[in-house]
Amino acid sequence: MTAGWDVIVIGGGPAGCTVAATLSGWGRRTLLLEGARFPRYHPGESLSPACWTVLDGLGVGAAVRDAGFVTKAGSTFVWGPRRERWSVYYGQAGDDRLALQVRRAEFDHILLRHAAAAGVAVREACRVRQLLRDGDRVVGVLYDDQDGGTQTAEAPWVVDATGRDAFIARRLGLIEYEPGLANGVVWAYWEGGGRLAGRAAGNTLFVDHEDGVTWSVPLDDGTLCAGAVIRPAGRDSLREEPDRLYRRSIAALDAVEPQLTGARRTGPVRVGSASAYCASRLAGPGWLLVGDAACFVDPIIAGGVQLALHHGALAALVLNTVLDEPESEAGAAALYNRLYRQQYDAFARIASNVYGPVTDETAPAPIDAVAGRPPDGAALPADAGDRLAFLSVVSGLPRHRLPQALGEHAMPRRRAEDRRGGAISLGEEEGFAFLTRLFHRERLRAGRARRIDEELAGESMLRQAPGAEIGPQLFLPAAGERRLVRRRAAANRFGDRFEPSRALEVLLAQLDGSRTCSEVEQRFGEELGAGWQPDRAAFRRWIELLADQGLVEWQRRDDRVLAPVTDGAACAG
Ligand SMILES: Cc1cc2nc3c(=O)[nH]c(=O)nc-3n(C[C@H](O)[C@H](O)[C@H](O)COP(=O)(O)OP(=O)(O)OC[C@H]3O[C@@H](n4cnc5c(N)ncnc54)[C@H](O)[C@@H]3O)c2cc1C
Repeated sequence: MTAGWDVIVIGGGPAGCTVAATLSGWGRRTLLLEGARFPRYHPGESLSPACWTVLDGLGVGAAVRDAGFVTKAGSTFVWGPRRERWSVYYGQAGDDRLALQVRRAEFDHILLRHAAAAGVAVREACRVRQLLRDGDRVVGVLYDDQDGGTQTAEAPWVVDATGRDAFIARRLGLIEYEPGLANGVVWAYWEGGGRLAGRAAGNTLFVDHEDGVTWSVPLDDGTLCAGAVIRPAGRDSLREEPDRLYRRSIAALDAVEPQLTGARRTGPVRVGSASAYCASRLAGPGWLLVGDAACFVDPIIAGGVQLALHHGALAALVLNTVLDEPESEAGAAALYNRLYRQQYDAFARIASNVYGPVTDETAPAPIDAVAGRPPDGAALPADAGDRLAFLSVVSGLPRHRLPQALGEHAMPRRRAEDRRGGAISLGEEEGFAFLTRLFHRERLRAGRARRIDEELAGESMLRQAPGAEIGPQLFLPAAGERRLVRRRAAANRFGDRFEPSRALEVLLAQLDGSRTCSEVEQRFGEELGAGWQPDRAAFRRWIELLADQGLVEWQRRDDRVLAPVTDGAACAG
């Protein structure tokens, strides 16, 4: 029995290394148990530029840059009804913002060595077999050691970073599959294959076709990974003989871009599931899930390593907080769950859109064919046509609606940062922030009741929406801080938080379900006193806004809940 750890991390992939190295750097005694001996093969070579934030934060960015991996400026598509090739490039903020195509055996090894150098007790060839429990609480693990023996280790927190083995989530029956994304995947490596030319030489190439999407990724050892995602309709074919299935699946790739002509396959054809899933809970008593052990979306979205790194860093913040403040466990777990879920939902939605039908409305077009202008009149960048086409494919919004939607997204940000004018950045991180908000807002509005005005004018009773509350809430800290911070805020059931103005505090205190909108308005005015200028229309608009944000709802006297927010389901009637 080895006691005295603060945290045990199971799995030494990107997620496990990030959480372990971060915690160890903050002085936490961290044990990392990895079942394999590194370097070990792993698929998932294409990184996004968002990975740099975490890699540089960990202090391993320079080692990754120096490893000589292929630089990836963007992605190239043959997509939709027009079979011409088009490319989307990451932001023009310099080389640091470019992405990489990494050999994962080497990339993961760099991260594991870095974790050891940061003070993590790294044990390779140690496979965890069982969780140790004290009642409901996970308090440690039992594992096979390098010498064929069995060991136990104990800690107040066990992090599952076992990738798609999902050691804890599968044992606790938490895995929930995403309907519509029950895909399969087939891939292999080639040498002597062709590359795209010029700036696109390091790009991932995507080709869509009837049964799914094929991709190719160039690597620095001269090989090329070529694979295909097979849509649910074609999943039966996964039982086919792998070589035949593979040849058929990547035929579309070679047809438009003969990269494999004259090339030689260097290893076996690999076939597997690519079904999207997320655990229904991402943290519980003594345990926390991160990376693919928490959720998996899709091979071609190239978000797996990004999620693993970013949530590894978030997991470290959460654990560092609860190790010192055990009373914040529930709030910290809820925050972790919410932030993780939001990103997973965004990626899952992107994947669904990517595999959805591509119409002329979403296909690429030159900039002069892009209708509309952002409402703040900002100029669109010169290559906006292809970027808008890409955003249109992943957001599911028709191309002509995007400038308006992007402008609405950018305006409050500009105001907050007191920056005016300039081009709207359609860079990778801003694009992802835009999509996350867009999808979340749609979800909030999904249950919006109609004729709100009439209902509010009638005898409906106002009340706080389920899960709405005002009180101390945990927030992410400023960059460089090591703990979550607590501030007073209003929150809805989705965990969105709002600044608690005096007016909001006074209003929510009135909402016990016993007053109509007019009665609440009158009491609200009395409470606010001189600070309140009665304006019925403005008050109703405010109530509607709060309903849109999941803070308020109303109910008819005959008990029918009319206002807006449930988990996507309309709630009138
Ligand atoms: C075909 C394919 C293509 C992909 N392409 C991309 C891509 O281009 N870009 C991208 O970002 N993502 C891609 N992904 C996803 C990406 O590979 C994963 O999201 C990423 O590796 C997740 O990192 P992780 O640290 O969570 O898990 P992993 O990297 O899977 O690491 C988990 C580690 O846990 C260890 N382990 C497992 N069980 C135990 C145990 N019981 N005890 C001890 N150790 C254990 C394993 O040995 C492993 O080293 C792809 C996935 C597939 C299948």
